[in-house]
Amino acid sequence: MVAKQPGLIARCADVSDIQAAIRVAIDTGILAAIRCGGHSLAGFSTCDGELVIDLSRMREVSVDPDARRARVAGGCLLGSIDTATQRSGLVFPSGVVSHTGASGLILGGGTGWLTRRFGLSCDNVEAFTLVTADSSIVRANSKENADLFWALRGGGGNFGVATEFELKLHPLTSVVLTEGLTPEANIRRLLECWRDFMAEAPFDLKWNLDLRLAPDKNKVPPELRGRPVAGNSLVWTGAPEAAKHHLRPALSLCHLDSVRSRTVSYLDLQTMADSDFPHGRRYYTKAGYFAYLDDVTIERFLNALATIPSPETQIELAYLGGAAGRFGCDETAFGDRSAPFIVNLLANWADPSSDELHISWIRSLFKKLRPAMQPGVYVNFMSGDEQDRVREAYNQRWERLVAVKTHYDPGNFFCLNQNVQPHKRAQK
Ligand SMILES: Cc1cc2nc3c(=O)[nH]c(=O)nc-3n(C[C@H](O)[C@H](O)[C@H](O)COP(=O)(O)OP(=O)(O)OC[C@H]3O[C@@H](n4cnc5c(N)ncnc54)[C@H](O)[C@@H]3O)c2cc1C
Repeated sequence: MVAKQPGLIARCADVSDIQAAIRVAIDTGILAAIRCGGHSLAGFSTCDGELVIDLSRMREVSVDPDARRARVAGGCLLGSIDTATQRSGLVFPSGVVSHTGASGLILGGGTGWLTRRFGLSCDNVEAFTLVTADSSIVRANSKENADLFWALRGGGGNFGVATEFELKLHPLTSVVLTEGLTPEANIRRLLECWRDFMAEAPFDLKWNLDLRLAPDKNKVPPELRGRPVAGNSLVWTGAPEAAKHHLRPALSLCHLDSVRSRTVSYLDLQTMADSDFPHGRRYYTKAGYFAYLDDVTIERFLNALATIPSPETQIELAYLGGAAGRFGCDETAFGDRSAPFIVNLLANWADPSSDELHISWIRSLFKKLRPAMQPGVYVNFMSGDEQDRVREAYNQRWERLVAVKTHYDPGNFFCLNQNVQPHKRAQK
């Protein structure tokens, strides 16, 4: 979807390379895109004819098992962190696809299988090191540059190039993973049950739903293939023997032959979705929050399934809450955590001639769902055509973010992101 040709790619090996690249870009007035894992759905990590600051050579991870802390360089992929931390039986809560870049994910917030148990990725960062637009090195934590520390936890790449993250780790090596497909006739009941159940569910349970067409695969019961289904993925991080009781409501509405429950290693959990989102496909997304899933919204989901344009396209539903919900709205720049239902409409297809079909399906469904949504959106689930929603993403935190941006990047050098523009006076 994003096929651009940079004029120059600076493959930085260390912090001084990043400083040099920024200095040159500022002095010559060229635009710079920052690239970690290259997963930006909006296409922000590349540009036409100008400079890409590529951090993919900076992938060092060092783990202190006794302190349960890790230092992670700004070019790491999630997989590099998981592999290093698992050697000591520890985890950093992050996203669900291991080839996603850690920097982009953490700076935007970071949600995944462990969000309810341990919080968002950005909630588990103790300090950031940054190269700012004047090419100086700045550290931010709860004591040093506390305003910047606040902004970096959700404010995206607006403030500088993150060169190192100091992360809190937690002990965990395996989880109970249960998957099952709910046939079309039971989806309404499932959504009602999920909505009510998750409000009281233990922090150890993450129960995600994908509304889609069942794939034509051996493990899918033949009568479900190609039919609308709800895919249930339940991850239980507590004591395995306690899992059953909490899984019962979901499983009672699944097709019996589709249910699989097993203990999986954390590394297997973190890579199991990799092949569903390969490089080179086309993706378009729109997302939002609901404070409550009312019956009208559920009806709209069901109607949408009748016209869904491909088996890979899905309506993803996740329930936040848990440890992530413990943070107050103003404690980090990340959006309002009080509306726990996250919906992500995600189109995924291969053929460029089908762009219009997929994009218009997502836009039209989003338009219908929008009136019942709570204002706000997770910046990492936004597409490149949603600059008008950036203010909405930060809502009552906007003025504070603009003040931090104006202080650290008055000329808006870091503008290829869901952009927070500095005050005009400073820009001049
Ligand atoms: C297949 C797929 C799966 C995903 N799964 C999840 C998920 O489970 N959970 C979740 O929360 N999100 C998920 N996302 C969204 C993801 O968090 C964002 O796309 C994120 O921006 C990706 O980070 P990246 O480093 O790979 O991106 P890049 O494309 O490399 O960078 C994106 C932007 O982030 C900023 N940036 C990157 N590195 C730095 C840095 N070192 N310093 C400053 N700014 C920087 C820049 O503004 C850059 O333009 C997924 C996306 C995809 C495509």
